[in-house]
Amino acid sequence: MWIRKRIDISWRDLSRAAVYCLMARRADVEQTRVEALWSESALACLSVRSGWDLLLQATAFPPGSEVLVSALTIPDMVRIIEDHGLVPVPLDVETETALPSPETIEAGVTPNTRAVLLAHLFGATAPLDRHVAVARRHGLLFVEDCAQAFRGLGDAGHPQADASLVSFGFIKTATALGGAVTIVRRPDLLNEMRRRQHEYPIQPKREHLRRGLHCAVLKLLSSRIGARSLLTLLRICGRNVDRFLNSRTRGFPRHRMFEMIRRRPSTPLLRLLRRRIEAFDIDAQQAREQRGRRLVRQLEPVAACPAADVEQHAFWVIPVLVEDPEELRRKLLAAGFDTTQADSMCVVQPPCPSGTASPENARRMLDQAVFLPFYEALPIRELDRMARIITPGKPG
Ligand SMILES: *Cc1c(COP(=O)(O)O)cnc(C)c1O
Repeated sequence: MWIRKRIDISWRDLSRAAVYCLMARRADVEQTRVEALWSESALACLSVRSGWDLLLQATAFPPGSEVLVSALTIPDMVRIIEDHGLVPVPLDVETETALPSPETIEAGVTPNTRAVLLAHLFGATAPLDRHVAVARRHGLLFVEDCAQAFRGLGDAGHPQADASLVSFGFIKTATALGGAVTIVRRPDLLNEMRRRQHEYPIQPKREHLRRGLHCAVLKLLSSRIGARSLLTLLRICGRNVDRFLNSRTRGFPRHRMFEMIRRRPSTPLLRLLRRRIEAFDIDAQQAREQRGRRLVRQLEPVAACPAADVEQHAFWVIPVLVEDPEELRRKLLAAGFDTTQADSMCVVQPPCPSGTASPENARRMLDQAVFLPFYEALPIRELDRMARIITPGKPG
């Protein structure tokens, strides 16, 4: 059984994570080192959500201000906007880029709009020049959420974005079992964020250690035999597999989200983060891209993969859009491929009394997407077999 997802960390780095828990160095010293890898605009945070929350604190937009957001994102990013007394306004996304078009941004701007937050989804980083230009023209703060799109230090976000948010959370590329780097190109905002972050408590080391152990268990369970045993066991116990696996990989418990994100990263987290960034294997990433393109080529045009033709692409995940996702998931499972639907993402709904249309294409993408297992351990011949199951009857 090929499980839906494997956590992107080696046993070697995981054992290092445990050793780093013994380090006595101060967290702020280690934080400076991580930030120095990027630029003077970098702020290392406990998570992307922590960074986004700090950024909104620093901007202090008047209550009721509108924030335009990609209609497809994770619910917590939207919750944070609401918690600041601001109004998230969804922008529908296009299938080709998984981003809203510049025209959609233009159409969403009102006299109350203060900011725009676009999420690069699935690993794709589509060009943003025209989006940035629209935001500039209207004097909006422009933020890009690169949580799913890390491809190494060489790609540190759009140089004209006011902020770029990169995640090293549990299920993300090059995970550090948590952590994030926010690049904030407005020194006034960066200083204010830094000042506020400094008042936060530091994440306890034992929490980081616990996450490492949890990760080790998940790694064991995601081997081929482990995955088969796990799925069989869950079925016997009558547990919902999707719900179980999602709850295992969520970063923080739901009801305590704000308490959890308003903390500073611990020394061992920062040390692991530095290691993951410094030792990031660009060659392996390029090989992944090539395999991703190969798979997508085999699926198209029978099954569409959103944003698959974007030039800069990490192929963090590969969603395929089909009319009947349930049926495809059953078929793939029977052939040994565990898949998922985008349970961790949501479609942002327009604010209540509003003229904005509901984001139809985002809804359709989310409803029709099946996320395929895709990681280094999956050999090409298995990827090919998976493609043939998805596109039966496709010649060649
Ligand atoms: C994972 C993710 C986040 C949150 O990242 P954390 O570092 O876990 O807070 C935000 N946005 C998107 C689109 C994500 O996929």
